[in-house]
Amino acid sequence: MGQIIDGKALSQVVKDEVKAEVPALEAKYGRKPCLAVIIVGENPASQVYVRNKVKAAAYTGMESRLFELPSDISEEALLQQIAILNDDPLTDGILVQLPLPGHIDEEKVIDAIAREKDVDGFHPLNVAGLWLGKDCIVPCTPAGIMRMLDSIGVELKGKNAVVVGRSNIVGKPVAKLLLDRNATVTIAHSRTGDLGEVCRSADVLVVAVGKAGLVTGDMIKPGAVVIDVGMNRNAEGKLCGDVDYASAEPVSSWITPVPGGVGPMTIAMLMKNTIACFLSHQKAY
Ligand code: NDP
Repeated sequence: MGQIIDGKALSQVVKDEVKAEVPALEAKYGRKPCLAVIIVGENPASQVYVRNKVKAAAYTGMESRLFELPSDISEEALLQQIAILNDDPLTDGILVQLPLPGHIDEEKVIDAIAREKDVDGFHPLNVAGLWLGKDCIVPCTPAGIMRMLDSIGVELKGKNAVVVGRSNIVGKPVAKLLLDRNATVTIAHSRTGDLGEVCRSADVLVVAVGKAGLVTGDMIKPGAVVIDVGMNRNAEGKLCGDVDYASAEPVSSWITPVPGGVGPMTIAMLMKNTIACFLSHQKAY
C-alpha cells in the first residue's frame, strides 16, 4: 500500500525555510528579494497559477510585482517590458506565465529574460548549465520532484528511473537530475513502443504527460515510487493526474496525490529560485 508524499505539507516546509531566510537577506543587503510576474491575457488556469505564485511570495515576506498585460499586446511591447525589468536593479526574478497568446513567440520571450533573473530556469544558458552540471537555476517542477524524493529518503543510486514525457520544462530536466543522482534513466514518450513494459522496469516512475489516467496499476512495479506531475480535469471537472491513483496506490510504496502533490512544490521551489536569483544579482551589482 502506497504512502502518500504530501506535497502540500512539504511545500509549507520549503516556504517556511524561505520565510526564515528573507529577514536575514534584508538585513544584509538592505532590501528584500523581488519577483516580477508577468501574465498576458486572461487564461483562467494561468490566472490561478499566477495568483498562487504572488500569494506564496507574500507569505515568505518577499516583494512581488504583478504585470497583467492585455492578450493583444504586441510581442515587441512584451519584450520591452522584459528589457525594463532586466535593467531594474530592484527586480531579482522575472517569470512570464506560459502559455502566451499565439501571436507571441514563446522562445523569443524566454530568451529575452536575463539569465540571472530567469527564476523558471528555462533560458538556454540555464538549460545548458543544467546539462553540463554547472551551478545554475533548475526549473521549479523538477527541483520540487527531487525535493519530494529526498523527503522520503529514497536511494536513487543504481535504481531504474523512468520518466514519461520529454518536455523541456519537466521531462528532460527531471531525467537529468535523476541521472545526476546516479539513477539509470529511461525517458518514454508518445512514440515509445510498449509503455507498460517500460514503466514496469521503474523503481522510480515520474509521469509528466497531460493525459488523465494514462498510467494504471498494472504498469507499475510493486514497491515503486510514483511521482504524478499531470494536471488534468476529469469528466466532472475535478483536478486529476496522469496516474490512475486508485489502481496505482496499492502497488506503489510511495505516491504523490493530485491535487496536493507536485503542484504546490513547484510554487515553493519558485520561492527558492527567487532567493537564488537575488543572491546572484547581489554579486552582479
Ligand atoms: P508537454 O505537452 O510539453 O509534454 C507532454 C509529453 O508527454 C511529451 O513529451 C509527449 O511525447 C508525452 N506523451 C504524450 N502522449 C503520450 C503517451 N500516450 N504516452 C507516453 N508519452 C506521451 O507537457 P508538460 O511536460 O508541459 O506537462 C505535462 C503534464 O504535467 C501536464 O498535465 C501539465 O499540466 C503538468 N504540469 C504540472 C506541473 C505542476 O506543477 N504540477 C508543472 C508543469 C506541468 P512527445 O514528445 O513524443 O510528443
